[in-house]
Amino acid sequence: MAKASEIIRMTACGPLDVATFPCRSDNYGYLMRDKDSGLVAAIDAPEAAQTEAALDHLGWTLTHILLTHHHTDHVEGVADLRGRGDVAVVGARADAARLPRLDIEVMPEKAWSFGNHPVVILDTPGHTVGQINYFLPGPNVLFSGDTLFAMGCGRLFEGTAAQMWGSLAAIKELPDDTTIFFGHEYTAANGDFALDIEPGNPDLLERIEAVTETLGKGGYTAPTTLALEKKTNPFLRADQVAVARAVDMVGADPAIVFAEVRRRKDNK
Ligand SMILES: [Zn+2]
Repeated sequence: MAKASEIIRMTACGPLDVATFPCRSDNYGYLMRDKDSGLVAAIDAPEAAQTEAALDHLGWTLTHILLTHHHTDHVEGVADLRGRGDVAVVGARADAARLPRLDIEVMPEKAWSFGNHPVVILDTPGHTVGQINYFLPGPNVLFSGDTLFAMGCGRLFEGTAAQMWGSLAAIKELPDDTTIFFGHEYTAANGDFALDIEPGNPDLLERIEAVTETLGKGGYTAPTTLALEKKTNPFLRADQVAVARAVDMVGADPAIVFAEVRRRKDNK
């Protein structure tokens, strides 16, 4: 295992610091620290050992685990991390039956706070039907789990294309400067596919160049921003003429265009 000091990338988000580090084969682990209260949340628990190494290196004490969905590669580390002490596991009440035991059940329509920071729970079905995303207005930070990736989105394991399009449309309503921390490093393959759809998109071409350089140096493509995704993510852009044209569906409902783009990605 690489040394924690070599693999942690820190992002300052106003009153929050977010540490990004790789887990498993292509998951991202995140730790968010509230500078005012000292609270520290892991976002999902892909791999306890990696999260523990990051906590130890940073000298942070884990207080929360925020779960986005029930897949093993997002919850497997929960039991071990809970054993570190007083750790509250947070997740969707509607999916509690198949998540690890929850200490705090959250719901989309109900406010929840991390320290003094309100957390908006976004209901984002599609990849799974119970998936939620966590948005912190003010610092404008989104943890998108397996809903939105850089230039991509999660596979539709349970939900419908219409549900996923609704989830992405809700994310698009967030401020453009939202910093998005996503669940997997799939960016190279996603960029490849995005180019199939929009080979002439100058923002996309520029981004692919930057991503190639970042990945070539062993860097991370997380986090991203909503502004960048709106310009380059073909799934978020299913309501744009250029994307509809690419799949011969000009004038079709964006949800239908989205379904076709997703189908093509699945078959690539
Ligand atoms: Zn998943």
